[in-house]
Amino acid sequence: MSRTGKEYIESLRDGRAVFVHGERVADVPEHPAFRNAVRSVAHLYDMAAGPEHREVMTYPSPRTGQPVNRAFLLPRTPEDLAARREALKLWADATYGLMGRSPDHVAGFLVGFALRPDVFARAGEEFGRHVVGYYEHVRDHDLYVSYVIIHPQIDRSKPAHQQEDPTLYAGVVEERDGGIVVSGAQMLGTASALSNEVFLSCILPLRPGDENYAISVAVPIAAPGVRLIVRRPYAEGVPSVFDYPLSSRFDETDALLVFDKVFVPWERVFVYRNIALTWDQFFETPAHIIGNHQAQVRFWSKTELLAGLAYRIAEVNGVVKLPPVQTMLGELASYCAMASGLVLAADAECVHDPRGFVYPNPTYVYANNWLQATHYTTLLTYLRELAGAGLIQLPSSYRDYQHPEVARDLDRFIRSPGLSSVERTKLFKLAWDLVGSEFAGRHQQYELFYAGARSVTTSIRAFRAFDFAAAKAVVERCLASYDLPPAADPAVAVRA
Ligand SMILES: Cc1cc2nc3c(=O)[nH]c(=O)nc-3n(C[C@H](O)[C@H](O)[C@H](O)COP(=O)(O)OP(=O)(O)OC[C@H]3O[C@@H](n4cnc5c(N)ncnc54)[C@H](O)[C@@H]3O)c2cc1C
Repeated sequence: MSRTGKEYIESLRDGRAVFVHGERVADVPEHPAFRNAVRSVAHLYDMAAGPEHREVMTYPSPRTGQPVNRAFLLPRTPEDLAARREALKLWADATYGLMGRSPDHVAGFLVGFALRPDVFARAGEEFGRHVVGYYEHVRDHDLYVSYVIIHPQIDRSKPAHQQEDPTLYAGVVEERDGGIVVSGAQMLGTASALSNEVFLSCILPLRPGDENYAISVAVPIAAPGVRLIVRRPYAEGVPSVFDYPLSSRFDETDALLVFDKVFVPWERVFVYRNIALTWDQFFETPAHIIGNHQAQVRFWSKTELLAGLAYRIAEVNGVVKLPPVQTMLGELASYCAMASGLVLAADAECVHDPRGFVYPNPTYVYANNWLQATHYTTLLTYLRELAGAGLIQLPSSYRDYQHPEVARDLDRFIRSPGLSSVERTKLFKLAWDLVGSEFAGRHQQYELFYAGARSVTTSIRAFRAFDFAAAKAVVERCLASYDLPPAADPAVAVRA
C-alpha cells in the first residue's frame, strides 16, 4: 500500500548509523543536513497517496489489491510503459528533476529483475524466488531502496580479489545456515541516508577470483553493521531557501557505505558468488534499461527548468529579441528536445520481449545516457552565457533586504522592467543554484557519472545497442545500386 509522507518520515527513525562531521546523527528527519530533503521525498509519497494524483501514481497490487506506486508496474504493453512514464514524470516534475535517486529509480531495477527471475534461477530456483519476493515486498510496503553497485576508488588497476585487503570492497566473508555475512565498503550511496533499504551488488566487470564480490543482496539501512559516511551536506548552513532554493530542498546527499560484518538472510540474497550472474542481472534482464529510463524522465524535467530559466533571464535582461540570443536559446532548446524526444522514442519503439513484457528501446536509452553525460555541461554553459554577471551581482543573502539603507539601493539598482528587486534576485539565485553552487557542481558530476564513466561505459552501451547490422545493410544496398560505368557513358547508373 502506498505510504503517506508522515509514514515515510517515521520509517527513517530506525536507529540507522549515519555519520556527518564526525558525529552520529541522532534523528535523520530533523537533522539540518537531511530535514528538507526528507520533506521533499515525503511530499512525493503524499502525492502518490493523495486523491489528486492517485489515478496516475498508483495501480492495484496484484497480491493485495491495495494501491501501490506505478513505478513498480511490470510493463506488459506499450500502454503500461506510457502510464509508468507519466507517473515518473509527475514525481520528477515535483523536484524539477533534481533528486536523481528518488524511490522510483531503484524500483525500475527491481522491475527489471522481477521480469526475468529465470536469470537468477540459473543458480538455483530459490534465487528466482528471492528476487521476486523482494520486489513484491518493496512494492507492497512502498519501501525506498537506494543502491551501491560500484567498488570504492582505491586501485582500479587491480581486480577486487587482488586489493591489498580482501575486505576493502564489499563481499561475502562468511556463510552461515541462515544467510551470509558481508564486509567491506561500496560507493556511492546517493540518497541512502533517506532510504529504507540498500541494494548491494557490483555493476563493474569482475574477473575469475572475484567470486566473493559477485553477490547481489538487499539489507535495511538500519541493519547492524551498516554505516553511512555522508559527504558535506549542501543544505547545511544556507541562509535561507530564498538564497539557495535547490541546495536547501533537494540535496539527496551521497555516502560511502561501510558493511561491517552485516548478516544477510538467504531470502535477501539474489546472486551468490556468481560472476556471470552478477553481470547478467543488469544486462540480460531489462533492469539497467528500465532503471536508466527513469533517470532520463527525471533529466527531462531538469531540462525544462533549465530552458525556462534561460528564456526568462534573457527576457528579464531585455535581450530575448536579439538574434544571437535566440540562436543560443534555439541551440539550448534542441538539446532539451533531444533529451525528451529520446525518452518518448524509447517508449514508442519499445522492445516486445517474447516472454510477454515490453521495455524501452535500448538504442534510445543509451543514446540518451550519452547525450546527458556529454552535453549537460553544454546546457549549463548556455545558461551562464545568457545570464552574464547577473548570476554574481546579487545580495549576499535575504538579510540585505532587512537593512533599510541596503534595501533601498537593492530596490533601485537590482531590478528589471516589470520585476522588483526581490523578484529579480529570486530568479538569479535560483539560476545560480543550478549552475554555480556546490550543489550545482555535484549535479554536474552526477550527470557525467551516474550511469558510469562516459568514455568507458555509456558510449560502449550505445555502440552495442545500435543496429549496425541494419546500417551496414543500407550501405550494401547503396553499393549494390551502381557499378562500374559502361565505357561509353560513365554517368549512367547500370542498376536501379
Ligand atoms: C554524484 C554521484 C552520485 C552517484 N550515485 C551513485 C549511486 O547512487 N549508486 C552507485 O552505485 N554509484 C553511484 N555513483 C557512482 C557512479 O556509478 C560511478 O561514478 C561511475 O560508475 C564511474 O565510476 P568511478 O567514479 O569510480 O570512475 P572511474 O571508473 O574511476 O573512472 C574515472 C575515469 O577514469 C578513466 N577510466 C576508468 N576506468 C577505465 C578503463 N577501464 N578504461 C579507460 N579509462 C578508464 C576514465 O577516464 C574515467 O572517466 C555516483 C557518482 C556520482 C559522481
